[in-house]
Amino acid sequence: STAVAEQSVAEPLPVLGRDVTVPLVTGGEVTYAALDYAASAPALQRVWDDVAAYAPYYGSVHRGAGYLSQLSTDLFENARKTVAEFLDCRDEDQVVFTRSTTDSLNLLAAALPADCQVYVFETEHHASLLPWREARVTYLDAPRTPAQAVATLERALAERDPAGPALVCVTGASNVTGELWPVRELAAAAHAHGARIVLDAAQLAPHHPVSLRELDVDWVAFSGHKLYAPFGAGVLAGRSDWLRTAEPYLAGGGASRKVSRRSDGGVDVEWHDTAARHEAGSPNVIGAYSIASACKALTEAGFDALVARERYLIDTVRAGLAEVPEVRVLSLFGDDAARVGVISFVVEGWNSSHFAAALSAEYGIGVRDGLFCAHPLLRTLLGSDPQSQGECGAPEAAPGEKSLNAIRVSFGAGTPDEHVERFVGAVK
Ligand code: PMP
Repeated sequence: STAVAEQSVAEPLPVLGRDVTVPLVTGGEVTYAALDYAASAPALQRVWDDVAAYAPYYGSVHRGAGYLSQLSTDLFENARKTVAEFLDCRDEDQVVFTRSTTDSLNLLAAALPADCQVYVFETEHHASLLPWREARVTYLDAPRTPAQAVATLERALAERDPAGPALVCVTGASNVTGELWPVRELAAAAHAHGARIVLDAAQLAPHHPVSLRELDVDWVAFSGHKLYAPFGAGVLAGRSDWLRTAEPYLAGGGASRKVSRRSDGGVDVEWHDTAARHEAGSPNVIGAYSIASACKALTEAGFDALVARERYLIDTVRAGLAEVPEVRVLSLFGDDAARVGVISFVVEGWNSSHFAAALSAEYGIGVRDGLFCAHPLLRTLLGSDPQSQGECGAPEAAPGEKSLNAIRVSFGAGTPDEHVERFVGAVK
């Protein structure tokens, strides 16, 4: 079993909601232990403060001559630069602000060149599994080691016609097992076969530095609400060529450079060839600004320190769960896999939804239960057809029925030691 340190190496970063108390069915109340970071992490206090300081001054972006409009435009465009630095973008890369990871990947899917062949592991979150369905897609079987993932991709790519365009889409860290995927090796395999690669960093970016240069990926997508910023904004960053020539994702103001009536009565449009091409409509300046603020806060805290802290949290949860014989932790790559603070498990004899509900009602702990928008992966991990009546939410099951979905506990930079210690005690 894993040796666990006495306590973590540093203080958690201050986040919203850390003093919120919730009632317990057993009487009294307790501070809420938010252990569902993989769904949405609490916003950093620092991000909230930055937004509050800016809020009185916000104005229209890109359109106004007034002082506050110019201030907002500067903040929006500076946010783009901050995100580009955070992701260690190459000079030719573009940062497009979107609504979320789901939106970013759908935008890229809409910008694929004709006849693009897409390769995606069946283990992906639905946001990275499903947007490509209009293209030709090869679904790859779940690998059981990181090396097998690379070998599986190489085998599939070797069969393709290297003259045509191809895209690989892969997650950096699983939203179910927390396991890290061999992104650099997969990128090398993709490029060796003339394919491009997009990284779904929704679960990776909050926990580890993501460098487009170092990983040598063509695009990266992530969501603000998992990166300690509030809801409503995300990012697609990377190569501009496919995006520059694609039809705009949304047609409207801001995406167009020039619009004119033709002599035959129709309308001609010249679209921008910058990020603005895919950002039609009034932009979410607060969303972009809050993402930039979170990027700065995480960089200042330092990923080395954040990773070291998270190691204590991961070890505590894994060692605690290992002491409960009825618990089975779900894993593709096994005990030695590198992982982030996302751990899913089932408890023999328990319905996962009831178990999660009891953690909330009796201990004030918020976890997630269900299939985590990754049905094929859950099927592989559970070795049977999971119950599903809701795509991402908790499926219904009769009282006492054997659980065929799972429980997920997830945490990060704002998690105090006490939350994971309370969780382990509650499970025991
Ligand atoms: N990819 C992964 C790996 C995720 O965990 C999630 C969110 N659970 C998404 C994509 C989609 O993110 P969003 O809901 O913010 O679009």
